[in-house]
Amino acid sequence: MGDDQKQPEVQIKQKSSKKDNKDNLSSILKELPQVDEVLNHDTFSFLSHALPHESLKNSIRDVLESIRNDVKSGKITDKKQIPPLSEIATDSCKHALQLVKPSLRKVINASGVIIHTNLGRSCLCEDAVKAVEDVAGGYCTLEYSTENMARGSRHSHVEQLLCTLTGAGGAIAVNNNAAAVMMVLNEFAKGHEAIVSRGELVEIGGSFRVPDIMALSDAKMVEVGTTNKTHAEDYSDKITPDTAMLLKVHPSNYRMEGFVEDVSIKELRKIADAENKRRKKSDEGQQIIVYEDQGSGVLIEDELFKTNGEHTITDSLKLGVDIVSCSGDKLLGGPQAGIILGKKEHIDRLKKNPLARALRLDKMTLAALEATLRIYLDADAARKKIPTLRMLTESADSVKKRAIKLTKFLTSELGDFPVEIETVEEISRAGGGSLPMCDIATFCTKITFKNDDGYSADKFLVQENEIPIISRLSKECLYFDARTLSETNFKEISKALKKYFTEAK
Ligand SMILES: *Cc1c(COP(=O)(O)O)cnc(C)c1O
Repeated sequence: MGDDQKQPEVQIKQKSSKKDNKDNLSSILKELPQVDEVLNHDTFSFLSHALPHESLKNSIRDVLESIRNDVKSGKITDKKQIPPLSEIATDSCKHALQLVKPSLRKVINASGVIIHTNLGRSCLCEDAVKAVEDVAGGYCTLEYSTENMARGSRHSHVEQLLCTLTGAGGAIAVNNNAAAVMMVLNEFAKGHEAIVSRGELVEIGGSFRVPDIMALSDAKMVEVGTTNKTHAEDYSDKITPDTAMLLKVHPSNYRMEGFVEDVSIKELRKIADAENKRRKKSDEGQQIIVYEDQGSGVLIEDELFKTNGEHTITDSLKLGVDIVSCSGDKLLGGPQAGIILGKKEHIDRLKKNPLARALRLDKMTLAALEATLRIYLDADAARKKIPTLRMLTESADSVKKRAIKLTKFLTSELGDFPVEIETVEEISRAGGGSLPMCDIATFCTKITFKNDDGYSADKFLVQENEIPIISRLSKECLYFDARTLSETNFKEISKALKKYFTEAK
C-alpha cells in the first residue's frame, strides 16, 4: 500500500529538471487515484472474490501506469482529461479479467488442414476422450498390477497392443517422436557412428532437425550420398568398426522429384547383415542396428497411404528394421506421443535408459493412446472412429453434402447482410508434415464480402469470437472447409458472423 502512494512522487522527482512542466505535470498526476481507492470502487466488488487480491492490484497499477505515461508523453495535458474513477475501475476490471482468461482454448477448425500442428494435430476419438476422463480425475492402475497386487509397469498398457497391431517383439511409448529419435540414438549410437543419407537430413516443423537431434544424443553423424541420390555402396563404404547404426529418416513434409534415389530398408538390412556376420566371425563388439524414423505412424493399409508412398509400421518391421519410431498424433490419430517398436531385446534396453524416465508419458496420454490403439484392432472401425482417419478418408461427395448444408444454413441466417454465399470445390491438406503432395478434394462454403476485403471478418472470427474460428482467407473471401467441420459447428459459425456484422461494423 505504501509503495502505491509513493509512485507519483517518484515521477515528479524525475521530471524536476524540466522546470516549466514540473508544476503542471505534478498537479495532473496528483489527480490520479490511489490503487486502493480504485480497488474499493463498486465495480470491483464482484471481482474481489473471483481473483487474488494481488492480481487485481497489479491490473490497477498497469492501468494507472498507462495513464501516467499519457501524462508524461503529453497526450494528457489537463486534469480534466484524467479518466474518472469509475472508468479507471472498469478498465482495471477488464484488464484483470484479461490476465485470467484461459489461454489454451477450443477452436473451430474450418481451415481444411486435418493434422493442423498449430491447432493441436489430431483430435482424439470418443473412446480416447472417455478413457482420459476415466483416469484423469481419480486414481488408476498407472503403475499397479491388479493381477500381482503389486507394483506394475506403466509401459505395459500399450506394449501388448502395439505388438499385436504391428508384429513387433516389443514397444515403448514416450513423450513424442523427437524424444523417441533422441532416445534410440542415445541408447544405440552414443559415442559411435550412425550413418545417414544427406537426402534425409531434413528439418521437420519448427524445431526438429535430424543433425541437431543426433548431436544432442551424442551420436556421431556420418553423412553419405548427395542431396538427391544415395546408393547402397555409399553406406557400405562408410562402415567402420565404430559404426553402430544405419539410420533412415522419413522425409515428412519434404519431397524431391526427378533424378532421385534412396536406399531401401531392405538394402540397408542386407548391408547391416553382411557387416554383422563379419563382426561375429571376428568376435568384434556390437552389431549394427537398422533404425527407421517412420514419422507418420501409419498402422493400417489404405489406398490413400499406398498411393502417396506411405508404408505401414508393419511394413518397416517386415522389411527388416531393428527399430522403428513414429509420432502418436500424426496419421496414427492419437495423442501426442512417440512410439518405438522393434525386437524385444532392443526395447528392453530402451526401457532401462534413464531417458525413458525423463521422457515418459503421463496417465492421461497413456489412457488416450491405449484407447486409440484398441480401436485399430478393427481397421474398418479405425477408419470410422478415429477423427484423423475419418477426415482423411471421407469421400468428396460426402463432404460436399455437409458443405451444401452449411451454405444453405448460412444463407438463411445471414440473408440480411452484404454477403454472397456459395459452395465451391477446393483442396484439403493432411497437414502435420504428412502426405505433403496429396491434394484431397473437398468442398467449402465460400463467403464473399460485398463491402470489404474479408480480412476484418477473419480477424473478428479469430480474435473476438469466444470460440476462435479458423477459416481460410483467400482473394478477399473466407472459405469454410467442410472436411474439418462437423454439423455441430454450424450454429457457432453463423452466430459469430452475425455478431461480426452487428458489432464490428
Ligand atoms: C513429425 C516427425 C518427427 C517429430 O515428431 P514429433 O512427434 O512431432 O516429435 C520426427 N521425425 C519425422 C520423420 C517426423 O515426420
